[in-house]
Amino acid sequence: MHDAIDLDANATTRPSAAVVAAMREALEAHWGNPSSVHRRGMEARHRVDLARESVAKLLGCRSREVLFTSGGTESANLAIRGVLDRFRGGPRRVLATSRLEHSAVRECAEHLERRGEAEVVWLPHDAAGVVDLDALESLLGERSQEIALVSLMWANNETGVVAPVEAIGERCRDAGVLFHCDAVQWAGRHPLEWSGTPVDLLTASGHKFHGPKGVGVLVARGSARFEAQLVGGPQERERRGGTENLPGIVGLGAAAEEAVRSIEAGRWSSSILRDRLEAGVLARCPGAVVNGATAPRLPTTANIAFPGLEAEAMLVVLSESGVYASAGAACSSGSLDPSPVLLAMGIAPDVAHGSVRFSLSDLTTAAEIDEAIERIAAAHARLSRSMV
Ligand code: PLP
Repeated sequence: MHDAIDLDANATTRPSAAVVAAMREALEAHWGNPSSVHRRGMEARHRVDLARESVAKLLGCRSREVLFTSGGTESANLAIRGVLDRFRGGPRRVLATSRLEHSAVRECAEHLERRGEAEVVWLPHDAAGVVDLDALESLLGERSQEIALVSLMWANNETGVVAPVEAIGERCRDAGVLFHCDAVQWAGRHPLEWSGTPVDLLTASGHKFHGPKGVGVLVARGSARFEAQLVGGPQERERRGGTENLPGIVGLGAAAEEAVRSIEAGRWSSSILRDRLEAGVLARCPGAVVNGATAPRLPTTANIAFPGLEAEAMLVVLSESGVYASAGAACSSGSLDPSPVLLAMGIAPDVAHGSVRFSLSDLTTAAEIDEAIERIAAAHARLSRSMV
């Protein structure tokens, strides 16, 4: 049995020891209901408040702008559906987004489109996967009064391509249109100063930066009003009903505190190991190409096509040798369809079909990368032989 090498950080990251300890303490010692008025409830409320402050510090926003949810998917749905609901009955029925979004946004948009609840404008992008700013600008120029929301991601989970967030946000702001940014692959890993960023609603998820799964945040400016989608109690200032996931929120707070230090140390921001992985794999696997290579990319994501091979087969052989990676988004691995994101970038279906995402974390070491290159080359050679 080989030592496992995790190259799947865009799918999830390992909860840190501090996160696990904080969650255990929350379960054992602070299990009150934050809405209760007695001391146990007040203790629990205090923990939620502290976690909110930690997240606010990480994202450079105010605590009152942080709303806890069950993760990135809920935050994105809340932003999109909540804003459209707020404008219900008025002229703002357009949602502008792109085919390159994570399914949390893309499927939500398709669902609303199918049900006639929104008109969706799918913005064009270049072959590397960067949204066409001119197309956005003309859409905003022509239809600003009809657009409820622009929703575009900060960094793509499959290719790592980073969007020109400032430029998008400034155009939206000039047009008086709200901008939601799915920052799940960015927040907690790279500097983010919310107060100076032209984004109105921002989605982040705890498990992408060593926090627990099932907890995330929607950061919202006071001016970005939206309707609650989970209607129940008055929690989260009446924007998201339901008793708070206290251990999850406390774990997220602990992860946020550690993330501040990790970002300061630049632990996610060096591309040295990713470049070493790409160079090694390209040198050892004839025909391999890097998808999205020409665009600005996350320093920890490598999406590599092995034309002629099936990504699923590659993942199985890699897994046997202890290298964990993904094909397309994690939630679509196991399906035989090629990634819709790669197809939308104009990548040929057979090339998309043979594309594997390797995503590094702040914990990945050079020794792991060197060993991964060996195992990837061996898997590639084995599968190529079985193809002839
Ligand atoms: N958005 C992006 C870009 C993601 O990568 C993910 C998760 O992979 C999500 C949204 C969904 O987040 P969650 O898993 O917390 O629901």
